[in-house]
Amino acid sequence: MPQLNENFLKLEKNYLFINIAKKIKAYSDANPDADIIRMGIGDVTQPIAQCVIDAMKKGADEMAVKETFKGYEDSGAGYDFLKEAVSGYYSSFGVEIKPDEIRINDGAKCDCGNIVDIFGNDNVVLITDPAYPVYVDTNLMNGRRVIYADSNEQNSFAAMPDESVHADLIYLCSPNNPTGSVYTKDQLKEWISYAKKNNAIIIYDCAYEAFITEEDIPRSIFAVEGSRECAIEMCSLSKTAGFTGMRCGYTVIPDELTAKASDGSEVSISQLWGRRQGSKFNGVSYPVQCAAAAVFSEEGLKQTSENIKYYQQNAKVIASALDEMGIKYTGGKNSPYIWFKCPNNMSSWDFFDKLLSEANVVGTPGSGFGKNGEGWFRLTAFGDSERTKEAMERFKALKF
Ligand code: PLP
Repeated sequence: MPQLNENFLKLEKNYLFINIAKKIKAYSDANPDADIIRMGIGDVTQPIAQCVIDAMKKGADEMAVKETFKGYEDSGAGYDFLKEAVSGYYSSFGVEIKPDEIRINDGAKCDCGNIVDIFGNDNVVLITDPAYPVYVDTNLMNGRRVIYADSNEQNSFAAMPDESVHADLIYLCSPNNPTGSVYTKDQLKEWISYAKKNNAIIIYDCAYEAFITEEDIPRSIFAVEGSRECAIEMCSLSKTAGFTGMRCGYTVIPDELTAKASDGSEVSISQLWGRRQGSKFNGVSYPVQCAAAAVFSEEGLKQTSENIKYYQQNAKVIASALDEMGIKYTGGKNSPYIWFKCPNNMSSWDFFDKLLSEANVVGTPGSGFGKNGEGWFRLTAFGDSERTKEAMERFKALKF
């Protein structure tokens, strides 16, 4: 009989969004005429830019011609044309990353989850709370000790390091899911200095960097001095360019990043990750990589930014409704997420139920992202603009 990895049995039984889907289903089965507006799951709704789709079609056509047909990609780390396009994108905001420091993947979630493979199970893992559930779950699956840095109302949901606590791996996400908060350059400097003191590695998730509107907020941890020796960065085209159904992202591991093995030898993190990927990953489809490269072309960036502006406008609608109601929130400005305090000190799930049953609006209970999320709630700006306006009118009409 196979032995189970019983760490899985210690996880929450269902991923947060499965619990939400069950509640919505139960409600709509009981109220089939309810006009439900979904502002819960962080999925995009606007179609992909035409020039990106044209590039994918061209890539697909090449697969039908003997001379241009592509089978397995040599390295599985992405075609040079895409790595060069990503590197060029970094240059456009002043960060120099070599194409070979970039590995293309089928979305950031996989790398966020799989990166744990190359680190030992005795590491102490520091995760800001609340957090994107993948960081916690994938470490618990391997039986690692997870400690938390509190993001709360006092620090505007931007947790900072506690010098008295040691960590080996640190997860940071900016712009943050779920709180929409962002780290400034000075705050990232503190994290980098903490990481260096602890010989730790920062896993930096910037899946929402395209939503940053303030000039002085870094779009990459590599915009901050000293990060190349202590950070891995993960990014995605899912929210930047509507790729949630296409699947493409990228991970950056600088050449300088090393860690000591138990025999004292210096090991390149990039080589170790490359070795892991070589055994377990066979690359992203050619047409999707063609589409991804088109996102970073002049026309691609122009067309894609229209969708981002559309979502940013929704974020403004949500934020101004909350302002009107006098409800405290973070996010919205550099992020598609708005994170607010549940009115009347309600618990996150009580507020979820009230919003669903009395306004037919779905959001995400903050407690699903960690203990500091209790009493808070997330709405996303990824919906249709008219429906977002309608949802906020219904919210404003709620009686507490
Ligand atoms: N990182 C964060 C913070 C996210 O919120 C998400 C998706 O919602 C991802 C990574 C994963 O993105 P994908 O796997 O679609 O690239």
